[in-house]
Amino acid sequence: MPAPEFQHTVGKTASFSGTALHTGDKVTLKLHPAPIDHGIKFKRKDLQDEPTIDAKIENLKTVERATTIGEGSVRVHTVEHILSALSAMGVDNAIVEMDANEPPIGDGSAQPYVDLIRRAGVTPQDEPRKFFDVREPMHVEAKTGSLLVLLPDNKFRISCTQAGPNNRFTQFLSMDVTPAVFEREIAPARTFVYYEDVKPLMDKNLIKGGSLENAIVVRGDAVLSKEPLRFGDEFVRHKILDIIGDLALVGRRIRGHIVAVKPGHATNADLARSIVREQTRRSAFAAPRTIPSGDGGLDVDQVMQILPHRFPFLMVDRILSFETETKCVGVKTVTINEPFFQGHFPGHPVMPGVMQVEAMAQVASILLFRLAKTTSRIGYFMSADGVKFRKPVLPGDTIFVHAELTKSRGERLAKAKCHCVVNDAIVSEAELMFTFLDK
Ligand SMILES: [Zn+2]
Repeated sequence: MPAPEFQHTVGKTASFSGTALHTGDKVTLKLHPAPIDHGIKFKRKDLQDEPTIDAKIENLKTVERATTIGEGSVRVHTVEHILSALSAMGVDNAIVEMDANEPPIGDGSAQPYVDLIRRAGVTPQDEPRKFFDVREPMHVEAKTGSLLVLLPDNKFRISCTQAGPNNRFTQFLSMDVTPAVFEREIAPARTFVYYEDVKPLMDKNLIKGGSLENAIVVRGDAVLSKEPLRFGDEFVRHKILDIIGDLALVGRRIRGHIVAVKPGHATNADLARSIVREQTRRSAFAAPRTIPSGDGGLDVDQVMQILPHRFPFLMVDRILSFETETKCVGVKTVTINEPFFQGHFPGHPVMPGVMQVEAMAQVASILLFRLAKTTSRIGYFMSADGVKFRKPVLPGDTIFVHAELTKSRGERLAKAKCHCVVNDAIVSEAELMFTFLDK
């Protein structure tokens, strides 16, 4: 077993200003420290209520040219370079605050972000890091010829082959990714684009901040940039930079060897999704049998010791894990024997949306009862906001019910943000408010 590694955050706030690639606007980015298990979150300081977006693959929105994440109508574009620097430099927890919808592009590399992290400092925290250990080979591929293979390894390694149109600019590089190697070999490598790809975007004025100062443009066999190439194989180095950034959306450090051929944001994101799916599957088999105080789960007996609900109204089969004191994932397996299917609807069984809201409420109650260390109360619904039903839930589905307490006033009032996931897709979501009264 390797020695435990601790989570890290930044030592103090540091900032960096520049131009946003797509809008051409000036943007200031501030990197703030964050507590253990917080992960990386982007904060839109320019919007009302300053919404934050988790840098998680579940929030991935688009992968055209750059990686965009979002929640609701809020977006953050081009997150991969700063995520790459944070991940490779060992920052697990931080708030990335911006006054625009994307970070400053800098010189098109991760160098400005490495400098930013250096100014902020990197400090250890009192909790072990979360890893994803590759146990069996995994792979994803696309029709474009893009292929990523993930192999077991006790370190984080990347071996990458990049090839341009007609296999021009074919380059190969293999390395163990450590902070020192990243800083020296990867961070300075700049974005490169093919003239034929960016010409239509320039014509449509979609990359107002783009210039030869923040990207290398390849036109035919010619390489155009303000500054000469920083490495003979700068392109493959930038591909490695993007892989690290996109895989940071897994939210765990990867111990494994990535073998990449012609990688791109779409396949990088596919691999990140596969890793999270595999991690979820593993967690499902790892539910402990004793009452855990840490981040372990609860079996159905333990759930029933906490919740007063019984058949046919108990909507939680088990709690998979407590990510933090205020965040957990419950599981409900939906079978054809559920009583509600008899009438909803004869010959066409669909789980009623209100039962999913009930499942969310029950999982959220478990969080609150656990925090309050009592089960002598009953939670009553006060309101449900932002309720959305996105996909039907059918017999045979397993619902993963995610709940996070966002507010609790005293021990009597609580707000929870919840969503239900089936087959990696969000099927329903709601923001719930309860009051807790003595039985
Ligand atoms: Zn990039």
